Amino acid sequence: MPSPRIAVIGAGLAGVACASRLQLEFGIPAVLFEKSRGRGGRCATKRTVDGLLVDHGAQYFTIRDPLFSSIVHRACGDALLSINAPITCPDGTPIPGEPRWYHRDGNSRLARDLSPDLEVRSSTEISRIDPLDHSWLVNGERFDAVVSTAPLPQSYRILGLSDPPPAYIPCLTLILSLNGPPTGRAASQYAVRDRSGPLEWSACENHKHGRIASHRTVFVSQGSEAFSRAFLEVDPIVWGAAMADLTARTWNLNPADVIEHLTHRWRYARIASPATLPALPPGTFFAGDATSASRVESAWLSGHETAARVAAFLTKAPAADPAPAIP
Ligand SMILES: Cc1cc2nc3c(=O)[nH]c(=O)nc-3n(C[C@H](O)[C@H](O)[C@H](O)COP(=O)(O)OP(=O)(O)OC[C@H]3O[C@@H](n4cnc5c(N)ncnc54)[C@H](O)[C@@H]3O)c2cc1C
Repeated sequence: MPSPRIAVIGAGLAGVACASRLQLEFGIPAVLFEKSRGRGGRCATKRTVDGLLVDHGAQYFTIRDPLFSSIVHRACGDALLSINAPITCPDGTPIPGEPRWYHRDGNSRLARDLSPDLEVRSSTEISRIDPLDHSWLVNGERFDAVVSTAPLPQSYRILGLSDPPPAYIPCLTLILSLNGPPTGRAASQYAVRDRSGPLEWSACENHKHGRIASHRTVFVSQGSEAFSRAFLEVDPIVWGAAMADLTARTWNLNPADVIEHLTHRWRYARIASPATLPALPPGTFFAGDATSASRVESAWLSGHETAARVAAFLTKAPAADPAPAIP
């Protein structure tokens, strides 16, 4: 009997956690299929025109779980840093919080550091999987089990589920680069969180040390749920300009200093409320942040836990238990 192989769809935090544990702890080879060029998923980092690394997905991450803590510290070493400057309400009231961690080389590097030796088929989008005897065909290759970590609307399609997928909240995001070092409140403050305005979050990336050159200031702003829904299908030129204006007002910036703005539309930024999944076809699994909180750490924990369920399935699955046909 050849040893089992697992396909993991998506190289975000859930995917790399699942594939790494399968390989390292259970000795089960796993292949990651990722539709984009790199790893990280929504824990994403972009480069500005002058080469600065800016996190336009997860802004920072928590490290609460002791296992996550030991694995992340070991994998990232001294590239794991925390933000010291405060987050406030628009009126300047500080918002207390636990340590806010980031990766010095861009938060997307977290996924890479956590999965250095994994086989990743990047730029490979999986649109469906097909049953084959007691296994699954993924992109023309046979696998004994499949874990999808794509956001649920995509996972439901891949796994052939006909139920309506749970709702996600979109997030429109702007990166604004300016000439000169941070001034005014941006000199000492990391971010402003506004739970009632159109700009829910605006952060000065310069407070992530080692990222932004001293002659530049970079902000990352996120639209509120209402703003993001209202402009989701609108030309980014329109909402990008509106968000740039809101960011300038939040931080009292001079529009003449702006050198670049970049936009990103996150259609599935976070789950509206933790999802309960329907029964999945035998040998298929879901991992990701959708069943708990939309956080980097939750996604990793979900992938880690799913690896154990996959390993248990492989040892217990009765031989004559064919996967059902997907229409
Ligand atoms: C704007 C924004 C801000 C956030 N801020 C924070 C924060 O400050 N702190 C925090 O902890 N969390 C934050 N989050 C949430 C955090 O980023 C996510 O919870 C976490 O990254 C989800 O990881 P995941 O592996 O479950 O999913 P994802 O990261 O979405 O990974 C899924 C992967 O699957 C790939 N994929 C999708 N479809 C296919 C397909 N058909 N074939 C192949 N590959 C496919 C995707 O490209 C992606 O790489 C934020 C998210 C967003 C969008």
